Amino acid sequence: MADKLTKGITKDRGLRIYAASTTETVQTAQTLHGLFPTPSAALGRVLTAGVLMGSMLKEDDGNITIQIKGGGPIGTIIAVAGSDGFVKGCVGNPKLDIPLRPDGKLNVGGAVGTDGFVNIIKDLKLKEPYVGYVPIQTGEIAEDLAYYYQQSEQTASAVGLGVLVNPDCSIKHAGGFIVQVMPDCPEKTLAALEKRLQTLPTFNVMQEQGLDNSEIIMRILGEENTEILEESEVGYRCDCSTERMERAIMSLGRNEIQSMIDETGDAEIVCHFCNKAYHFNREQLIKLAEKSGRE
Ligand SMILES: [Zn+2]
Repeated sequence: MADKLTKGITKDRGLRIYAASTTETVQTAQTLHGLFPTPSAALGRVLTAGVLMGSMLKEDDGNITIQIKGGGPIGTIIAVAGSDGFVKGCVGNPKLDIPLRPDGKLNVGGAVGTDGFVNIIKDLKLKEPYVGYVPIQTGEIAEDLAYYYQQSEQTASAVGLGVLVNPDCSIKHAGGFIVQVMPDCPEKTLAALEKRLQTLPTFNVMQEQGLDNSEIIMRILGEENTEILEESEVGYRCDCSTERMERAIMSLGRNEIQSMIDETGDAEIVCHFCNKAYHFNREQLIKLAEKSGRE
């Protein structure tokens, strides 16, 4: 079943919610990067956040980069998402193998670490990119992003993100939601939300119960107060291209390209997000060196 992003709002307009099912998206990342279970959960949560936060961008051709760098053994986690909700991502150590937490769950917080930052870059094309960052709180991603919204965007939010990994490393369920509290949210709507969030099962458990995004949204916002707005398809997508790789080579500068020509005569660049290899021969490198010298 294709992954979906669903938007909802309370009838009193106090809360808005974005919910995403991302099982296929995370499965694609798991296959592309050969992810072990803990990196699957960690990157999967960040990819899910990318789908949600990308979809919140107002500009049609904008994109958002989420960078999680907590100083832990998993290294840096990156997701880049477009405003259409399609996302790509990578993780520093895809084959990290660390013990489960005492409660039997994957230790995402321990893998990510808490000595570092959450970095959010919103590239809205027309203007300078918006850059926001906050110190990592728990490394569990959802709490860190809720803290980011509160500190950096002054928006009260509830964030839930989850990935359930099968024993064979395939992805059983993945998904998540972001609820944002509007400035004029009625007090009783907010109190009811808080109460429900305390007692509701996790997003993955609700997926396991067979609920789709709309049904999960109604569980979170309360059936009698919910309006489902729209639903769209989302997924994993890498937008790398020969031109993009040429720009990456040119950014190395003329001298660096010249030494590549002198040493090996050719170059291969592998995309971090999809592992596609781009080969450049001697003639192509000479052209790029010339172009880079001119710019
Ligand atoms: Zn790629």
